[in-house]
Amino acid sequence: MRADDRPRNVVVVAGTRPEVIKTAPIVRALGGQPWARCRFVFTAQHRDLASPLFDFFGVSPDVDLDAMRPGQSPADLCNRLVVALHGALGRESPDCVVAQGDTTTVLAAALASYMLGVPFAHVEAGLRTYRLDSPFPEEANRVAASHLASIHFAPTKDARDNLLREGIDPGAVHVTGNTGIDALLYAAGRESSLGVEIAAGRRLVLVTVHRRENHGEPLRRICDGIRRLHDSQPDLEFVWPVHPNPAVEPVVRAELGGLDRVRLVRPLDYGPFVAAMKRAAFILSDSGGVQEEATALGTPVLVLRSVSERPEAVLSGVARLIGDDPEAIAREGSRLLTDLCTAPPGPLSTAFGDGRATARIVSVLHRKLVVESPEAVLA
Ligand code: UDP
Repeated sequence: MRADDRPRNVVVVAGTRPEVIKTAPIVRALGGQPWARCRFVFTAQHRDLASPLFDFFGVSPDVDLDAMRPGQSPADLCNRLVVALHGALGRESPDCVVAQGDTTTVLAAALASYMLGVPFAHVEAGLRTYRLDSPFPEEANRVAASHLASIHFAPTKDARDNLLREGIDPGAVHVTGNTGIDALLYAAGRESSLGVEIAAGRRLVLVTVHRRENHGEPLRRICDGIRRLHDSQPDLEFVWPVHPNPAVEPVVRAELGGLDRVRLVRPLDYGPFVAAMKRAAFILSDSGGVQEEATALGTPVLVLRSVSERPEAVLSGVARLIGDDPEAIAREGSRLLTDLCTAPPGPLSTAFGDGRATARIVSVLHRKLVVESPEAVLA
């Protein structure tokens, strides 16, 4: 084999539920490329939430870094991940490292790649709120990752524009769509059942809350808003797959545990969760991925945040930012129910992608790593 015919080593790094959802399509696609040798490194930042996804997508980690420790601070986690990833990536000798999003896993993967002199490809690059405190620490993670990356896969044109304003080389930025939509279409094609019984005649409201900036008093206010909406709308049934974070679960159970139409359940597997998003009258959430998925499915979402790095969801008319004010949650929820009865549904939005983001990413990687060369990517 000539030196330049060798398969290119591409290491995909993921650690949390959304990262596994959004990188699994890339791992699957690279696995079928004759020019690539793909290795999947799992940091286990969220082992319990992420592990069920491996079977669902038919991917399994080649390396498990087991980096999470109970009660670990973000600084401890970052420290542990940088050291562990530096060692693991060093052993894999990658031509390129790929990671998605804005968690500490991504920052650590970008830093470790940089330290090793390996090109880092950032998936879902260019999302910004321009507020370092919201989301914390994700805004800082993604800004830093952008400035350590050699290849930027921006999901939307807005995200690309953010990168260019920060002085990133336009030739290194590729608008691909979001791989989360590829994953969503894969899941939607597999038709899972909801896994939760909803009484006949009741409308489903799906709730998720997990962001650090909503911990504490904001979470109590959100619960208060949901209680008000529950009391004023007797045909609603709320399903809340409660995030296991100790700053979330006990608070939600204490605030809403006694209400019979509020079903506090364990996090749903991805297939049933997609089924719930499709079935819901609307969604209340502070999740980024859920905003993208809801937009693609046409399910309205009231965003429990005051800023968003996903303006496309609001512009498409599917999402509305309402923050944590109990009065606003009750009012906007009721208003949405009236709107849904009177307004016909609009066309489904491709604001976050058309389901072909992975194919575009693989094509760019092939061009950069094979047609050009791994060395040229860093130049
Ligand atoms: N999700 C899931 N089960 C749940 C809640 C969410 O599979 O009970 C999925 C959801 O479809 C989305 C992802 O998890 O793809 C979002 O994860 P999260 O809200 O934790 O992270 P974010 O998107 O805010 O980074």
